[in-house]
Parts: sequence; C-alpha cells; structure tokens
Amino acid sequence: MKIEEVKSTTKTQRIASHSHVKGLGLDEAGNAKQAASGLVGQETAREACGIIVELIRSKKMAGRAILLAGPPGTGKTALALAMAQELGNKVPFCPMVGSEVYSSEIKKTEVLMENFRRAIGLRIKETKEVYEGEVTELTPCETENPMGGYGKTISHVIIGLKTAKGTKQLKLDPSIYESLQKERVEVGDVIYIEANSGAVKRQGRCDTFATEFDLEAEEYVPLPKGDVHKKKEIIQDVTLHDLDIANARPQGGQDILSMMGQMMKPKKTEITDKLRGEINKVVNKYIDQGVAELVPGVLFIDEVHMLDIECFTYLHRALESSIAPIVVFASNRGNCLISAIEISFFIVTDSTGDRVLIIRTMLYTPQEMKQIIKIRAQTEGINISEEALSHLGDIGTKTTLRYAAQLLTPASLLARVQGREVVEKEQVEEINELFYDAKSSAKILQDQHTKFMK
Ligand code: ATP
Repeated sequence: MKIEEVKSTTKTQRIASHSHVKGLGLDEAGNAKQAASGLVGQETAREACGIIVELIRSKKMAGRAILLAGPPGTGKTALALAMAQELGNKVPFCPMVGSEVYSSEIKKTEVLMENFRRAIGLRIKETKEVYEGEVTELTPCETENPMGGYGKTISHVIIGLKTAKGTKQLKLDPSIYESLQKERVEVGDVIYIEANSGAVKRQGRCDTFATEFDLEAEEYVPLPKGDVHKKKEIIQDVTLHDLDIANARPQGGQDILSMMGQMMKPKKTEITDKLRGEINKVVNKYIDQGVAELVPGVLFIDEVHMLDIECFTYLHRALESSIAPIVVFASNRGNCLISAIEISFFIVTDSTGDRVLIIRTMLYTPQEMKQIIKIRAQTEGINISEEALSHLGDIGTKTTLRYAAQLLTPASLLARVQGREVVEKEQVEEINELFYDAKSSAKILQDQHTKFMK
C-alpha cells in the first residue's frame, strides 16, 4: 500500500460553490442585466464592480483596495471572482480568510506574501516543435510490482497517434500516464508532444510536463524530427507562487524553462525571501525580453476585520509595489467595524486620498434567492421542482442564501434514496428539519443558556 500526501483542497473548495459565476453580467453601457453570466440581482454592486474593472484596465487602481461590505451570503466572494473573470479567463483569483494569518508556525506577513504571489500570474509564450496527432488508442500496461510487494504497477503506456504521416504506436514512460490522466486525455483527443522536453498537452491546454517518451522501439529515443513536427506557440499560465514552490530546492538551472520544469517535482521546503528574489530576477529578465508577461490577478481577503495593524501596514506597502494584484477585502460586520477597517488602512497609508473603495451588497428577495438556487441546482445537475425551489427561497430569506443553497445536495441525496428523480418540497422540508442554520442555533443557545455548561 502506498501512503500519499493528501493535498489541501481548501482553495479549490472555496471556489467550487461559485462555479456558476462566469462574469459580472453587464451590458455594453455597464448596466447590470437582472440575470446574466451566472449572477442574479445585486445590480448596484455589480455595476460598481464593473467600474472597478475599468479602472484596473486603465491602470488607475494602483495602491488602492476595494472593500465589499454586506450581510453573509450576499455574494461578496461571487462578485470578487466575477471581477477576476472579467479581467480575463486566465487571471488568477486567490481567496483567503483574514484569520488564516494567525498561525503559530508562520509569520502573518509570510502568509500574506504567499497569497499575494498566488494572485500574480505569469504568462509565458514559447514557440516549440511539437509532435501532433489524434489519440486512437490508450492502454496502460501493468507489470508485477518489481519490489516484490502486492499489486501491480504501470510499466508503460501504449498510445496510438494518428498523425499526418499515418498512425503510429508509441510506447510512453509511465510518468506520462499520470499526465494523460490529469489532462483527462481520451481516445479522439488531439494532443501534442513536445519534441524536446516530452511535455504532453491536450489541445488548448498546456499545463502538464512529462519527462520522457519512447517510440515502438524497446529503448528510449527522442521523437523523430520530420514533417510531423509543427511549430506551435505554447502559452503557459502559472502564478509566482507556483514557481516559488517548484523551485524551493531547484535542481535545474536558473532560466525560465528549468524553473517551469521544476513544477513536475514540487518539494515541500521553505520558500525564503532570497529564493523569491531570485525568481523575481529571472521573471523580470523574461518580461524584458518579451517571453513572459505579468498577469495581476485578484486577491480576495474575506473576514478582513480579523486582520490587525501589522497586516494592514504590510498590505499597504505591498500594494504600492509595481507587481501588486488587485486586493478585494470583504466583511459582513456592521458599519462601525467597517469604518474601523477603513480607518486602520487609512492611518497606515498616511495619505490624504481615500485608499479603500467601498461597495455594499444587499440582501436578496425570495424571488432572487430562488433564481440563484435554481442556477446552483442546474450547475450541480440536480432536478428540482418549482415548489421546492420556492420553499428554498423562503428558507433563504429567513436564514442565509448560503444555508439554503447548501440544502440542495442533501435534499437530492434523500430524493435518490427514496427512489425519486426530482427533488420535491417534502425532501427540502425533511432536510431543513435535520439541520440548523447559524442564526437559529445561536438563538437556541441563547434561549436555553441555563442548560449549557458555563
Ligand atoms: P460571507 O459574508 O458569509 O462570506 P458572501 O457574501 O461572500 O458570504 P457568497 O459566498 O459569495 O457570499 O454567496 C453564497 C453563495 O451564493 C455562493 O455559492 C455564491 O456563488 C452564490 N451567490 C451569491 N450572490 C449571487 C448572485 N447575485 N448571483 C448568483 N449567485 C450568487
């Protein structure tokens, strides 16, 4: 049995519940359509976000931050993500929660710095020779475990590739199998294999590197040069943080290709300031040469009221740098706390201008909640009746949108157990009785405080 490290999914999960959001849904004049690009209602805030996107595009946002303020579940995260998408589909979006900075092991500023670098993208353009073809066969071949243990391991992969010169059978290194799986390559897909490095890519997506490849021959040989090779411009999108971890103990050289090559073998070692400095140097050189381009993304800091003055000081300094992402704060605390945030930020900025643009988000009507939950149900492939949706809308009004949307999956599981195709109001009611939302559980605690331990 192999014991593998379990990778953290916090960041991906935080975005997963917003997978229906594709942009701000504004018309050409910048007005919000009632429902578009996955967003519903919240028109004023969406239009304000549209203006911010324009300011960013015309490079007038430097050194400033945005604060989204509003009750829980009113779409603050969704709006920040939509802004990142409006800026371009490969623009990084890095969500974090203010309390993440408090750890006994890592300095607050270090946590902030790491997230800052996750929110700065680098687009690298290269022209490469590639071996291109349509996959006609994909067979992993197993052998007995060479270490004498139980089970089998994959020794190689046979892949049929229909190229301009006819169909060839290639025998590929097992490490390539992982890349193929990761890219979800199937028979019928067009892939290209880099002639020199052996990177395997599915058309249009280029995030995987493999180390070696082999032809029908029994020995490893480089792919033949010839007219099946095509020059292709390959664009890779990475973040500065990707490069940091990949190079936290580099074995290759200090050029952009070896730095990217390290991404296949990430190691968990400390990222030092010195390393970051080295990476910045290489990146800057490539930007100057026009090989790479910086893509500032969006750093979203939820629960910003958890940050302290040290964090604000750091953020302010970082925002002034030439390669800062757009920083979007969010808080669902009352106005007084929000102005406290503004003031803390203002004090450390020591300037006369307003450094924080505030956008408010408002509560949704039951009708809007219903519309949003319907979109979520469609995204998750859940069949649900209109009556059940209206009921969820009502529940959302009494609790929060997030709570109501979270009932969707358990209600659909319950429907399936009961042999139903469609989720009806009864399943929603039954599930709603099993759980408490934050507000009602706090109320129960308050009403029955004498029964609890003090
Ligand atoms: P909190 O203050 O608790 O962090 P929030 O304001 O960030 O909450 P979100 O997490 O953005 O709220 O919203 C909750 C859920 O509802 C998410 O799945 C989000 O994608 C969805 N949602 C919120 N507003 C909208 C909207 N206007 N249109 C479509 N979906 C929305």
